[in-house]
Formats: sequence, structure tokens, C-alpha cells
Amino acid sequence: MSDCLFCKIINKEIPADVVYEDELVLAFKDINPVAPTHILIIPKKHIPTLADLQPEDAEVMGHIVLTAKELAAKQGLDENGYRLVSNCKDDGGQTVFHIHFHLVGGRYFAWPPG
Ligand code: AMP
Ligand code: ZN
Repeated sequence: MSDCLFCKIINKEIPADVVYEDELVLAFKDINPVAPTHILIIPKKHIPTLADLQPEDAEVMGHIVLTAKELAAKQGLDENGYRLVSNCKDDGGQTVFHIHFHLVGGRYFAWPPG
């Protein structure tokens, strides 16, 4: 997708503070962090929203969750915990229409969110 911000980051057309990359996923620091650790983990495949997922996307989605676990441990978050969030469409608060998971930690997050 040529006009997708996160595809441009994947293609290195826009800079990002990349913390992890492999053939399936990219992880980079959120430009507007809401916690001491705020990393976005995205599939390299352009999938606009969670509502667009297909059965063949199961591998990459599982890989994203496992990548989040590894990155959280590297950030020292595994003991106190963290939150892994993906916002879907308008009511979910999604603003960038390429699936992404927010890995946030280093402070307490209440549930339900205020
Ligand atoms: P969402 O509102 O769930 O769609 O999240 C989109 C996230 O992308 C927000 O937390 C933004 O701060 C973040 N973001 C937007 N542009 C960039 C960028 N160029 N580099 C890193 N993060 C970004
Ligand atoms: Zn995209």
C-alpha cells in the first residue's frame, strides 16, 4: 500500500526507531509514547484492521504476540507485566489503518481504561 504510513516505515521510506525486525514483523518505538515503554508491533503484510484478518493470517498474528512477549522480557517488563493492545476501527480508536499492537509498560494501566 503506497499511501500507508506503516508500509512506508516497513519500506524504509520514513524513518522509525526500529527495535526488532524479521521476515514477518517489524517493531518500532511509538512516536508519541504513553508509557516508559511504548512499542508498536506490525505485520509486514498490509492488513488494514483486525476485521480484515483471514485464516491465512493466523501465523503472523501469533508471531506478533510471541514477539511482544520477547520484547517485553528484553525491556524488563515480564515481572511487573504490561499491556498489549490493538485498536480496531473508529470505536476502537484506530488512527493508522495497518494492523498494529501497542506494547506498553513501565507504569500501571487501569482496567477499564479511564
Ligand atoms: P492507533 O491510534 O491505535 O491507530 O495507534 C497509532 C499509533 O501510531 C499512535 O500511538 C501514534 O503515536 C503512532 N504513530 C503515528 N505515526 C507514527 C510514526 N511516524 N512513527 C511511530 N509511531 C507513529
Ligand atoms: Zn500498510
